[in-house]
Amino acid sequence: MQKLFQNAQIAQPDGMLLAVDILVTDGIIEKFSPALAEPAPAGVAAIDLHGLFVMPGGVDGHVHFDDPGFTEREDFGTGTMGAAAGGVTTIVDMPCTSLPPVTTSDNFKTKMRAVESKAYVDYAFWGGTTPTFIDSGTFRRLLPELKKLGVVGIKAYTISGMQTYPRLDTRQMVMLFEAARDFNMLVAVHAEDYFLATYYTDKIIREGRSDPLAYKDGRTYDAEPLAVSTVLALARREHTRVHIVHMSTSAGVDLVRQAKGQGIDATTETCPHYLLLNREDFVRLGSLAKCTPPLRDRYDNEVLWAGLLDGTIDYVTTDHAAGIYPREKVTDNIWNAYAGMPGVQLRVPLMLYEACAVRGMNLYRFGEIMSTNPAKRLGLFPRKGILAVGSDADFACIDLNAPMTVHAEDLYAKNKYTPFEGRELRGVVRQTFVRGSQVYDSSGEFPARAGYGKFIKAV
Ligand SMILES: [Zn+2]
Repeated sequence: MQKLFQNAQIAQPDGMLLAVDILVTDGIIEKFSPALAEPAPAGVAAIDLHGLFVMPGGVDGHVHFDDPGFTEREDFGTGTMGAAAGGVTTIVDMPCTSLPPVTTSDNFKTKMRAVESKAYVDYAFWGGTTPTFIDSGTFRRLLPELKKLGVVGIKAYTISGMQTYPRLDTRQMVMLFEAARDFNMLVAVHAEDYFLATYYTDKIIREGRSDPLAYKDGRTYDAEPLAVSTVLALARREHTRVHIVHMSTSAGVDLVRQAKGQGIDATTETCPHYLLLNREDFVRLGSLAKCTPPLRDRYDNEVLWAGLLDGTIDYVTTDHAAGIYPREKVTDNIWNAYAGMPGVQLRVPLMLYEACAVRGMNLYRFGEIMSTNPAKRLGLFPRKGILAVGSDADFACIDLNAPMTVHAEDLYAKNKYTPFEGRELRGVVRQTFVRGSQVYDSSGEFPARAGYGKFIKAV
């Protein structure tokens, strides 16, 4: 089946827009031609995009859609509806916030069965492992099995809030890094030092504090650079490919910049909330804005932006992790609140406005940090992450001039809250296409059925 997408504005590497028609055959881009130069040939369906900006569909490399196991928080249906509405055509789900966690091939298959009839956009999985599997040596059998099934890599925690997915100590982390190198797998690490963060947290709880900044002070700033430094040292020592998730501190960015300069195969991501929110927002919003790591300071916002603009930070994810609202998210005692927030639907609009309109990033580079770079790092490229002949026809079609105000009630997430409530942006996702089929229209329609989204194997 052939479709001709007419009059699309796509970004060139210099950031300038070019008006093109895109011929798509069976969901794959076949040809670009000058816009509206020729009518659609007989038998080819024409889709007029009316000059919308078309970027490669977003790839969110870090979401928690909680399915199966914690589906009061999110599930693959509501999660991927939010993705579609936010111009995201591929999500990569974490292994740790579903039950069972994705640590064996049986568990992988259980998750696949639970989600495959629900997804509106394409998806990939992170794999995981546990301290028990590492100590017993079983992980050396399990990791290649997960790789064969197509996980993008293995996620590990230096500190964990989940009883069902415990942290690794440094010795276990070394063993994981050795195995990941041997099997050529990427390791993603949540990097905050366990002992520092728990020591100060316990101390502050004993002092009787329960305000938002008590959480920020307990989960102390230095815990992140300390753990990042350990992880980078292990990556250098063991020649392991490593990815540090949700970077939040200026010192962490500096360490990654230094490591890249030394040739360590390290990448990192940050999230809109670490770029755009800080201590003042946490005080204003309270438990609603609790996340892990915590929001930092204005200075960190600026250093993270500099890191994103100079390429030290490779891409932007959301760490979409919704608590049950209001039960788990609204409380006067910060220790009782769930840490996390939904974000997948707002990532493209927030970043388009803040990075391009406010900070002057060009639109091609925007496609790289939202789509190309995560697809490359996670083994999904060139099928995903780029507008190129032979790639999947995944498009986010955006009206660059339309105003938008963020409202939680407009989210498709199962739990509707956001720390960005009321923020005024410019740029609205009008239509989203996955493999050439429309999955979202800003009239509120989801033309493709649930289950249209496919599992994408990392290669
Ligand atoms: Zn996460």
